[in-house]
Amino acid sequence: MHAITRHPKGRSPWQTELGQAYARLDDLLAALGLTPGSCGVSAEAAAAFALRVPRGFVARMRHGDPLDPLLRQVLPVEAENAVLAGYGADPVGDLDSVRAPGLLQKYAGRALLITTGACAVHCRYCFRRAFPYPEHSVTPGVLAEALATIAADDSLHEIILSGGDPLALGNARLREILRSLADIPHISRIRLHTRVPVVLPERIDAELLDVLHNAGRPLVTVIHANHANEIDAGVIAALQELRSVSAALLNQSVLLRGVNDSASALTTLSRKLFSAGVLPYYLHQLDHVAGAAHFLVPDQEARVLLAAMSAQLPGYLVPRLVREIAGAAAKTPLEYFGTT
Ligand SMILES: *Cc1c(COP(=O)(O)O)cnc(C)c1O
Ligand code: SF4
Repeated sequence: MHAITRHPKGRSPWQTELGQAYARLDDLLAALGLTPGSCGVSAEAAAAFALRVPRGFVARMRHGDPLDPLLRQVLPVEAENAVLAGYGADPVGDLDSVRAPGLLQKYAGRALLITTGACAVHCRYCFRRAFPYPEHSVTPGVLAEALATIAADDSLHEIILSGGDPLALGNARLREILRSLADIPHISRIRLHTRVPVVLPERIDAELLDVLHNAGRPLVTVIHANHANEIDAGVIAALQELRSVSAALLNQSVLLRGVNDSASALTTLSRKLFSAGVLPYYLHQLDHVAGAAHFLVPDQEARVLLAAMSAQLPGYLVPRLVREIAGAAAKTPLEYFGTT
C-alpha cells in the first residue's frame, strides 16, 4: 500500500506552496483568464526580473481584470523596459552603506542585515530588484564577519533582518541568526522586515512562532501590504499569530500608481490593517529604480492623498509619508499639512 504524502519528505507545507508559485507568464495569465495582449505583458521584463507570485496571492486577484491592484504589483509589463534618466540600479545608495558583507548601516543606532536574496514574491517596483545579493548577503560563510562588526560597535541597538525576505529562510537558519544577535549585549531590539505574512501566510507555522518567541529580544515586525485586497482571512490569522510574538506589528507600503493611488484605497488599507492588529508605519514614495518609473505618483499628488487620509482617519492610522534620500540621516518626511 502506498502512503499518501501531501508534501515531499523534509519540506514544510509552506515550502511546497512556495515551490508552486507562478513563475511563467502564461500560467499566471491563464489562471486569471487573461490574454497577453490585454495587459501589456513583456517577456523581456520577465527575463530581466523573474516573475514570481504565490498561488494564494493570485487567488485574491479579480479574475479577468488586467487592472487588478494586486496583479499590477507582480506582472512584468512593457513599461519596465523604458530606460529613463534618474532611474538606476541602486536608487538609495545601499552599496555606499555597506559596513561588512551583508550589513548595511545608514542611520544611527540601527543597521540592516541582508539575510538572503530570496523573496516569496517578486514586486516589480522593488528598490532592490537589481541588488547584487550574491556578494552582499549574510550567507553562512560571512555571517560571522557581520556579527563581529555589530559586536564591536556598541552604538548599535537594533538590527533589522531584511533581504530579500528574512522569512524566506528556513527556521533553523533564522534561529541561528536570532541567537547570535541576542548574544550581543548592546542589541536591545530586533526587527523583521517581511512581506511573507501577506503573500505566503502558510509560512507563519508553529515552528516559526517558536523561533520568534525565543528570539531573546523584543521583536518589531514590519510587514508590507499595499492594498486592502491583499489581506484575507488567512493573512489575518497569520498576523494574529505574529502579533503574539511581536512587541509591535507595523506595516509599510509603497505609494504606487495603479495600485493604491487614491484616498479611498489608502484609508481602506489603514482600516483593514487596524482590524488585523497592525498599525501603519511608513508610506514610501517610490525609489527611482530602473524599471519602476510607471509606478511613480508625483510628490504633490502624494501630499494631497495624505492630507485626505489625515482628514478622515485618527492620527495613528495615518502612515508617515517618506522618501529615502541617499546620504540622509533618516527617511525624509514629505510635509502634507496645508495641502489643499
Ligand atoms: C529604511 C532603513 C532602515 C529603517 O529606518 P527606520 O526609520 O528605523 O524604520 C534602517 N536601515 C536602513 C539601511 C534602511 O534603509
Ligand atoms: S518582497 Fe520586498 S524585497 Fe522582495 S521583491 Fe517585494 S519589495 Fe522587494
